[in-house]
Amino acid sequence: MTLVFIFLYVIFGILGLVIILFALGRHTFWLPIRDRKLPRLVMLHQVTPHELPSGMNMPPERFERLLQILQKQGRTFVTMSELVSHPMTPYQVALTFDDGFADNYHYAFPLLKKYQAKATIYLAPDIPVIDKLQHSQILEMAESGLIEFGAHSVNHVNLTKLDDTQAIQEIEQSRDAVQRIVGSCRSFAYPYGRFDERHEKMVEAAGFTSAVSTRKKIEPISSANIFRLPRVSTHGKMSAVQMRIALARGRYRI
Ligand SMILES: [Zn+2]
Repeated sequence: MTLVFIFLYVIFGILGLVIILFALGRHTFWLPIRDRKLPRLVMLHQVTPHELPSGMNMPPERFERLLQILQKQGRTFVTMSELVSHPMTPYQVALTFDDGFADNYHYAFPLLKKYQAKATIYLAPDIPVIDKLQHSQILEMAESGLIEFGAHSVNHVNLTKLDDTQAIQEIEQSRDAVQRIVGSCRSFAYPYGRFDERHEKMVEAAGFTSAVSTRKKIEPISSANIFRLPRVSTHGKMSAVQMRIALARGRYRI
């Protein structure tokens, strides 16, 4: 009888341990907590009330929760240009939206205004398929003083699949297109996060002052990474706990 109890005890103990490890394994508690003073660059795409198969959208309530968490942490919301001109200022956060989805205007912009939170939107003027921001919406957002517009290539292409001449064209023509709408364009985001050292040099030569990647990390900003800046990952379904983990460690899942 005693043996049966011991046996059951061991079995349930192992089962419990497996469940705990599985739950922990889904989160990145093992990653080091980064210095709170270091700037957080947050990567976002869409803010929509309905769920999307891509998982790249955040419902407005959750986006508002993110703004509240950042505000409670005492962070200053800055644009990418502001961030890279004062990279050592503590407790900064740069919200960044890739692609230029129209929902950024409909759902994110009202909340950004409510919290007076600055953000940067990277436009890919000829990106196919998506419902894009209209020129009038871009102008209204730029004129609010809250939103900086950067470039994300013209056609939203993987730069590493192009030859150098085509890659330079994609970078420079997207810069020109954004400049034509809002007057300036100093920040770049690599489509699909794909680039190598050549593209960093092209972006710098094109007059940009920074470029963001999709590397999920929190790092101090320096001349060594200014054209390959990592960002904090987000996901549409992330909970407040997961947001806090991502903001502390750079990513909340493996
Ligand atoms: Zn993109």
